[in-house]
Amino acid sequence: MKYSSLVDVYEKIESTSKRLEKTHHISELLKKTNEEDIHTIVLLLRGRLYPDWDKRKIGVANKLVLKAINTASGAGAGKIEQLWKEIGDLGLVAEKVIKRKIQATLFSKDLTVAKVFANLRKLNEMEGAGSVDRKIQLIAELLSSAKPKEAKYIVRNVLEDLRVGIGEGTMRDALVWAYMSVKVDYNAEKTSIDVDREKYNDAVDIVQSALDKSNDFTTVALAAKKGASELKKVSITPGNPIKVMLAQKVADMDEGFEKVGTPADIEFKYDGFRMQIHKSKGKIKIFTRRLEEVTSQFPEVVDSVKKNVKGDNFILDCEAVGYDAKKEKYLAFQHISQRIRRKYNIQELAKKMPIELNVFDILFYKGESLLNKPLKVRIKLLEKIVSEKKLSIVVAKRAITSKKEEAIKFYEESVKKGNEGVMLKNLDSAYKPGSRVGFMVKLKTAMNTLDFVIVGAEWGEGKRSGWLTSFTLACINDDGNFLETGKVGTGIKEKAEEGLSFGELTETLKPHIKQEKGKEVTIKPEIVLEIQFDEIQKSPTYSSGYALRFPRVVQLRDDRAPEECSDLNMVKEAFEKQKKR
Ligand code: ATP
Repeated sequence: MKYSSLVDVYEKIESTSKRLEKTHHISELLKKTNEEDIHTIVLLLRGRLYPDWDKRKIGVANKLVLKAINTASGAGAGKIEQLWKEIGDLGLVAEKVIKRKIQATLFSKDLTVAKVFANLRKLNEMEGAGSVDRKIQLIAELLSSAKPKEAKYIVRNVLEDLRVGIGEGTMRDALVWAYMSVKVDYNAEKTSIDVDREKYNDAVDIVQSALDKSNDFTTVALAAKKGASELKKVSITPGNPIKVMLAQKVADMDEGFEKVGTPADIEFKYDGFRMQIHKSKGKIKIFTRRLEEVTSQFPEVVDSVKKNVKGDNFILDCEAVGYDAKKEKYLAFQHISQRIRRKYNIQELAKKMPIELNVFDILFYKGESLLNKPLKVRIKLLEKIVSEKKLSIVVAKRAITSKKEEAIKFYEESVKKGNEGVMLKNLDSAYKPGSRVGFMVKLKTAMNTLDFVIVGAEWGEGKRSGWLTSFTLACINDDGNFLETGKVGTGIKEKAEEGLSFGELTETLKPHIKQEKGKEVTIKPEIVLEIQFDEIQKSPTYSSGYALRFPRVVQLRDDRAPEECSDLNMVKEAFEKQKKR
């Protein structure tokens, strides 16, 4: 397929904010795509090179792209840099510069998606001496053959910043429209669809379920093209991370019992970080809830699971908690979050900040998926195969009860031990990857918080110069666009020993800086903060339409992907709730 066909769709999607219109354009492209290009098209549509579970990045800096534009166009480096300063988007700069060049030479060759994809992948794989020059050549080669609009998106593909919002939901629906046997009549004038709702919802569920298990749009697209029965065969495999199941929130024990039924399984809600642990062919792999592999950061967990869990292949769902052995108390998440990011002196840090693994679910065992087995069966199996070793690996502490007093006593015991509250679970329920379900709920000690992504900041002055301060926060909407909700500067410390500091946050954000204008910095949405606030107000100032009153930073949520931050509906819900208070 020609790269220009993909570029046409990028352009159409960029020009509309309507989700159904985007879905229509993507599905039309998918219908035209032959089998050998599906893999590439599905990835490039979302600006990716690898499936969602594979976190490899191209990691090319702006400067290198500037050089490539310079090489391909012959335009002076100073001039290109000046244009970049004026326009602020390297994609648009490339478009403009290439347009001038083409007017001068009237020459260009047709680019294919396969060629563009091949060069992008090479960019990622290239390392060592001379690799910078070779990378410039790879980008320049594409730009030299590109038409102006193609140049714009080549640069955006290279920088992995597509700037067109194709959220997971839109892509999933496009697969349904293109490949499932349900007729979707799209009315372009009214931007509406006519469809048999029941059939349509079933088709969406089948595609979503395959996605949640495989985390791989390419596998799902190829299966969907073959039909629903092929999609139903997509399953979980030890070694490939799957999306975790999430919990809804309840206000009190009564609501908890009402939601999950009785007798309920009540468990400590540990305040650590989620670990999905896979064993396959004798090898252990550990993934965070962002599905990033962190195996090498936790050698003691690998050892403990090898020694204390029976079986050759399995997938466990766990919460890893820092533990203060002296005080017999669990430590809050922020104390141990640094272990996730640590790349050196790992053994030393493991000794200083030991981790207790609390296993609370099992999703796969001995070659068989357990997703559809009732929780009580999964718990029984866990208790059979895990040999508990206090402060190393234990099965999550639980009580099974229908009595409210007993449940409240258990909740109080949990909080006294330093936990966040309790989880209540329906004993007959299945495991639904990627869903926030009502049959597993959380009851927590109260705090008004939401998770927001940082999209901007300001360079500080005086004693704060050299640090980023005043961070612009954003939530996400259904289309995967980030909408601003306000700024925060409170809660971050000046001294590193006191907690999350300006210095640490600045270093974390630096690689994601997109653009600087004076003191103002635009940041690629990558880093998530948990924010406490007094109130949410309606506000014309910010693109979400809401603003936070008295926000303060609680902690860095580096276990969260940007797409997992609070969505606009959660902000609206919090706003409506406070009106009722
Ligand atoms: P929160 O900020 O409340 O942790 P969240 O959105 O990060 O919420 P939720 O799924 O809503 O995540 O809350 C459940 C989280 O609690 C799980 O992701 C898991 O990391 C953690 N957890 C701790 N103990 C348990 C347990 N016994 N069973 C299930 N999850 C547990």
